[in-house]
Amino acid sequence: TGLSKYSTEAAIEEPIKPSVQIEHNQLLINGQFVDSVSGKTFPTMDPRTGEVISHVAEGDREDVNLAVAAARKAFDQGPWTRMTAYERQRILLRAADLLEKHNDELAALESWDSGKPYEQSSKVEVPMLVHLFRYYAGWADKIHGLTVPADGPYHVQTLHEPIGVAGQIIPWNFPLLMFGWKVGPALACGNTIVLKTAEQTPLSALYASKLLHEAGLPPGVLNIVSGFGPTAGAAIATHMDVDKIAFTGSTATGRVVLELAARSNLKTVTLELGGKSPFIVCEDADVDRAVELAHFALFFNQGQCCCAGSRTFVHESVYDEFVEKSRERALKRVVGDPFKAGVEQGPQIDSAQFKKILKYIKSGVESGATLEAGGERFGDKGFYVQPTVFSNVQDDMLIAKEEIFGPVQSILKFKDLDDVIRRANDSPYGLAAGVFTKNIDTANTLTRALRAGSVFVNCYDVFDAGVPFGGYKMSGHGREKGEYGLKNYLQVKAVVTPLINPAWL
Ligand code: NAD
Repeated sequence: TGLSKYSTEAAIEEPIKPSVQIEHNQLLINGQFVDSVSGKTFPTMDPRTGEVISHVAEGDREDVNLAVAAARKAFDQGPWTRMTAYERQRILLRAADLLEKHNDELAALESWDSGKPYEQSSKVEVPMLVHLFRYYAGWADKIHGLTVPADGPYHVQTLHEPIGVAGQIIPWNFPLLMFGWKVGPALACGNTIVLKTAEQTPLSALYASKLLHEAGLPPGVLNIVSGFGPTAGAAIATHMDVDKIAFTGSTATGRVVLELAARSNLKTVTLELGGKSPFIVCEDADVDRAVELAHFALFFNQGQCCCAGSRTFVHESVYDEFVEKSRERALKRVVGDPFKAGVEQGPQIDSAQFKKILKYIKSGVESGATLEAGGERFGDKGFYVQPTVFSNVQDDMLIAKEEIFGPVQSILKFKDLDDVIRRANDSPYGLAAGVFTKNIDTANTLTRALRAGSVFVNCYDVFDAGVPFGGYKMSGHGREKGEYGLKNYLQVKAVVTPLINPAWL
């Protein structure tokens, strides 16, 4: 392209060795680390080089059967489900303390397996995981039903009970956070779990789960089956003894999981799926701040965020300045070894994603968008992609319609609020949206008009444990985190008892 100014030096240096050993690469079933029944393993790779980090036990249907049997027994026979809520709370609090104590090991595993900057893992993601466990520990003793009036001589109460065995399937972009978003509320509500990690990133959840057992989680309550989607994942989704599925991943796979659940035992399904979120920069915006925030909204985590602000809509009055400054910001983005201090962007997760992103960039160029920055691979090994910016993007281009899941910013021009509301909502997705304005009326209009599960005003990607997250439209069903996240893991039982000869009702 001739536009790139990046130095390729950082990426081609010898990779920095992470300061952690791989202690756990087996399945975790009934409180024990075990090989898979078949004895098969699969390699997990270092995205910096494509080299194998570890061979991990590969779970399949038979392993899922064992894991579900352990989870069923732990649910039906206790002690987990017969403990008081206060005892479960103490285990979750101890788990949070241990996760915090092992911050550095967890962060190193996370960055090694996924390629995300170590500073991000150790200073943001593991602390968020710790906070999430403390947050849901706080809920464990506050889950209770109601007393309901009856039209007759009855005492009616509701019990809010755990659903049973929860099947959980998670993606690779935030392996530990997705683990926490699933496991934290399920345990607070008293469920037992069979969780499948993504095949690209099995390591950190195994380590975290070991710590949860050290904190006192009884055997069988949390089982981890590493493996692939169509085998281990489908076995969980179709299992007749799994009572609920919580899935995070692509919309296409979410549809498959819903179908598998419908064809087996009609288990309830919550889905956190893909997005193509608008980030709207209004005419009154402070352009420098808007550029920085829009850059963060798209490039954070190598652009591998379901809620990435991947359609940057900019008002025509500030468009040219915004584009020029976004280009400069992208060219300054520090790409390199995720273990090197100050690096903002590491490699993409794997070769498949890397190739898919480069294909989207090619399609952007071919469809007539203007390539302002990047556009190529970064370095000569691993899966690094240059931070890429397109301007003059039109709504009907593939790069404006489909989820790229990479460091590719598409900047579109809009005229007025009606124009941008219509175009922002013209997507099958509805996960998140960003609004950048100083005008309270504009902010109120947009927050109400945008059809998305999260609207961030003058900020982006605020993922506190208490803030619910989930999608409108084809971005999903249900909400995770916060009090809303408990609903996914509870069912309501109405208990009716007669009042014999009541003096009054
Ligand atoms: P993916 O759908 O390919 O995989 C997600 C998980 O599903 C993996 O564990 C995979 O092994 C499993 N899976 C695949 N096929 C399966 C099948 N037939 N049955 C059961 N399980 C199966 O998604 P991905 O590429 O790993 O992740 C990226 C996608 O996840 C993006 O679309 C992104 O937007 C989405 N995502 C959404 C959220 C959210 O909260 N909404 C968060 C993170 C990622």
